[in-house]
Amino acid sequence: MNIRIGYGWDSHAFKPGVPLKIGGLAIEHPEGLAGHSDGDVLLHAITDALLGAVSAGDIGSFFPPGDPRWKNADSAIFLNVALEEIQNAGYRIVNIDTTLVLASPKIGPIASDMRDRVADLLNLKPSDVGIKAKTPEGLNADHVAQAHAVVLLEKVEDPSELRSMADVVENQKQLEDVVKNLVSQVHGVESRRIPLHRPPFDTEDIT
Ligand code: MG
Repeated sequence: MNIRIGYGWDSHAFKPGVPLKIGGLAIEHPEGLAGHSDGDVLLHAITDALLGAVSAGDIGSFFPPGDPRWKNADSAIFLNVALEEIQNAGYRIVNIDTTLVLASPKIGPIASDMRDRVADLLNLKPSDVGIKAKTPEGLNADHVAQAHAVVLLEKVEDPSELRSMADVVENQKQLEDVVKNLVSQVHGVESRRIPLHRPPFDTEDIT
């Protein structure tokens, strides 16, 4: 079988005085999402979907809760690590689909911008990214944002495509190095370190 499916889910509570970021998009809103990182609930769900698709654990096993290096971190860093994992496993994304569940802000007017941003972060065409949103009717969860994500991967068979993917990874690594240096300057840490013997699953995710 040359295709694999991945699924991710996440939730974060709204918190006053925090910038709101969903799908890598900065959104004008009185409240943001509480979290150890930037609280980007959608990127966290997509990250878990990608990791799950290649059975590589979850976001909490790569970025342990409470690690000071990820305080207020840009969740695009987590997404890049997940992309590296699927590329190392020899897969690429066919398409992703997502559903946000939140009472406000309304996602409809910014869904197109969010789709473009997520597509950009994943090196996909916007037509390969689904962004949907629902309100949490009857769930008594108006102060929480939830995100669901599914991803379909396909095996890369053509070696030339693997080479071009390696170029993409290399470019991402260069970008990540810049981000890591910035994180280092702000937080006084050297670099991301993924433990060699990380646990396969860690459900205690406060990222
Ligand atoms: Mg999270």
